[in-house]
Amino acid sequence: MKKIKVAILGGTGAVGQKFVALLDNHPWFEISEITASSNSAGKTYESCTNWREITPIPERVRNIIIKNCDEKLNSQIVFSALDSSVAGDVEKLYAKNGHYIFSNSKNHRMSERSPILIPEINADHLQIIDPKNFIVTNANCTTTVLALAIYPIHQKYQITELIVTSMQAISGAGYPGPSANDIMNNVIPFIDGEEQKVETEIKKILGTVKNSTIVFDEICASAHCNRVPVFDGHTVTVSLKTKKKATIQEIENCYNDFSSITTNMGLPFAPKKLYNLFTANNRPQPKLDIFSDNTMAISIGRLRPCSILDYKLVALGHNTIRGAAGGSILNAEYCVKTKIISI
Ligand code: NAP
Repeated sequence: MKKIKVAILGGTGAVGQKFVALLDNHPWFEISEITASSNSAGKTYESCTNWREITPIPERVRNIIIKNCDEKLNSQIVFSALDSSVAGDVEKLYAKNGHYIFSNSKNHRMSERSPILIPEINADHLQIIDPKNFIVTNANCTTTVLALAIYPIHQKYQITELIVTSMQAISGAGYPGPSANDIMNNVIPFIDGEEQKVETEIKKILGTVKNSTIVFDEICASAHCNRVPVFDGHTVTVSLKTKKKATIQEIENCYNDFSSITTNMGLPFAPKKLYNLFTANNRPQPKLDIFSDNTMAISIGRLRPCSILDYKLVALGHNTIRGAAGGSILNAEYCVKTKIISI
């Protein structure tokens, strides 16, 4: 198969660099264009990027000349890792010019004709998209972990209420993020806008399509979001109430029995096993489990009864991979494979 050329908007930032690292040697996609701010435009990628990934800058990307965000692009597929102050207009412009946008930014998540796509949960939401303004968004990184963590239970027993507490990694704040002085030996109990995003995005992600629009799920979520001194990996603890009741064993079976639409499609970024289920009562932990097995998977542990709501659990997911660049790449793979986009 001839590789499909792709562009990255905001390729010099934290999420942009993750795209560059993950797309190196991707079997279907090849990075051909990168944009960033006017400070970087006109320079080689290597000379204007403060590279923070542990692998070297891929050879074929080093000398790509950075474009401005209003320059013509030749790649049909465009991954966006732009700062939200500019992402809204820039993504809209490229979409209007016929590009397929896969965005990590918050700007279009609530647009009526853009889904917040997590293919394992809501691939059918793609039917609401406007083909002349093709913008597929990713959920916020914490919402992604939460949504995947609760979906097998919701699908079978219908969650009505939940309380989620996040312990979010520093890498989720972009680079350089909070200063060492602020975050070391500390917990910061506020992340601007995050709780509202979690509480509203989850309703859209779990919604159902009726008459070409997404009817939001009635789930009621209350979020506490915290920044903690962890480099990568967002951990969430969740207490939840369901409409139909189940035993803990039945709740556990939801994960063991879950079958994802993406598993046998041959998508390079689809995890072979979506859930790593832990029985040890001190797991999952970001330090031990974030890179184990597959960074596109979600780790689940401590399934137990809740004395106020019905059940509680701990979940862990990689924020810049599953919750950002890797999630977008999977979305694009799904759209290519199902021919929702024609390349
Ligand atoms: P970042 O490190 O600050 O990178 C921002 C990128 O946007 C850089 O490439 C920057 O280019 C570019 N940019 C900034 N101002 C611009 C302008 N006026 N015109 C054109 N380009 C401009 O941010 P990030 O953490 O990678 O986040 C990128 C997006 O992903 C944000 O919308 C964020 O909310 C979202 N997101 C982040 C995470 C995460 O875990 N970090 C997870 C999910 C979603 P220069 O290098 O030239 O300044």
